[in-house]
Amino acid sequence: MKTRTASGTLFKKANTLFPGGVNSPVRAFRSVGGDPLFIDSGKGALIRDADGNEYIDYCCSWGPLILGHADDEVLKAVYDTMQKGTSFGAPTRLENELAELIITNVPFIDKLRFVSSGTEAVMSAIRLARGYTGRTKILKFEGCYHGHADSLLVKAGSGLVTLGNSSSAGIPEAFVKETVSVSLDDENAVKDAFEQYSDIAAVIIEPVPANNGLLIQRKEFLQFLRKICSEKGAVLIFDEVISGFRLGFQGASGYYGIAPDLATYGKIIGGGFPVGAYGGKKEIKKYISPEGPVYQAGTLSGNPVAMRGGLAQLSRCLTPGFYEELEKKTSYLKNGIMSVAGKSGLSVSSIGSVFWLAFDASGPVASASQIDPGSMKKFGSLYHGLLEEGIYFGPSGYEVGFVSSAHTYEHFDRTIAGFERALKKMD
Ligand code: PLP
Repeated sequence: MKTRTASGTLFKKANTLFPGGVNSPVRAFRSVGGDPLFIDSGKGALIRDADGNEYIDYCCSWGPLILGHADDEVLKAVYDTMQKGTSFGAPTRLENELAELIITNVPFIDKLRFVSSGTEAVMSAIRLARGYTGRTKILKFEGCYHGHADSLLVKAGSGLVTLGNSSSAGIPEAFVKETVSVSLDDENAVKDAFEQYSDIAAVIIEPVPANNGLLIQRKEFLQFLRKICSEKGAVLIFDEVISGFRLGFQGASGYYGIAPDLATYGKIIGGGFPVGAYGGKKEIKKYISPEGPVYQAGTLSGNPVAMRGGLAQLSRCLTPGFYEELEKKTSYLKNGIMSVAGKSGLSVSSIGSVFWLAFDASGPVASASQIDPGSMKKFGSLYHGLLEEGIYFGPSGYEVGFVSSAHTYEHFDRTIAGFERALKKMD
């Protein structure tokens, strides 16, 4: 048994300081049971907890660390930048450089605005869509998570499903009424919503929904959303906080060849620092203050240290073959896990370098209702077996895993062997 006394002591203390002992709910292990690990350090694909136990990490800080932990180039770039000051609240050259790197490589983005988190990016994109169209309603999909802005916590996924709520307390009914939530993978539901409501400002979707399991959508469904938004004058927002710079530099938009009107980013864009962004067509972006009437601002927006972290990471993502190699590695891992799954009912689905472990799934899963909440018990049992094997995932069966360029085939072979033993112990 790995000793976790230091983590246990820290968690006890944390419970006296933070609600539930954490600063973001899913970290609390409520879904899998037990106490969270307190992480002390990370390098490459490995993390070390407060007790000195080492783990191969497939959480990767929930996606941002596509180069793995403490990448030498990212660290050096950030360190050098910090020597010149950490924040000015005035424009810096680094904002131009990061924006230019993105805009020259993502064809449908004419202009960008940097913010400090994915939630902030989505919240701002929604306000912009409302300001641009003069309409109020937002159409979203059950099982997609878009951060914790009020109007989007309506039947949201991930941590909320885990907590057993379909939405959050503290959201005025008036806000909820402005959000229409329909099932993924269902053209008719979207058509019905547009027929019922003439004031839909935006349709927002994770083009690769990855917060409630991995709910891979048909390309035709995403194309249908593009078409209906154009016909109805609604803004199509792709929330690429996970898929952006992950499924390829152009994210899911490039992967499927579909240009949204606006895209929101977070996670990878900041190289492990707090950065978000929303970007899109010039004619929409010009509505943002100070050019236009939609207000949005931020003291630490475009922070130079964070910009430099993003620049260092995204420049590496542009290395030829970077994404192909990640996908190859992910397939190796996926096939390896499947080869030892036996009769456990475990299956692995993946797209690019994102993968999901599901129990008792009957075929491809494209909507939230296809997931049996009962199967999460099995995940909890596997989860603790994997921890014993030195393998770390996000602590919920609704969460996906990520492969970084720092993962090696040797890590995968160890992981596959660890799965084999952990699955056997479940019987
Ligand atoms: N949108 C998506 C698709 C996400 O996965 C997340 C977070 O996981 C968010 C938005 C919110 O981002 P943040 O946690 O940076 O506020």
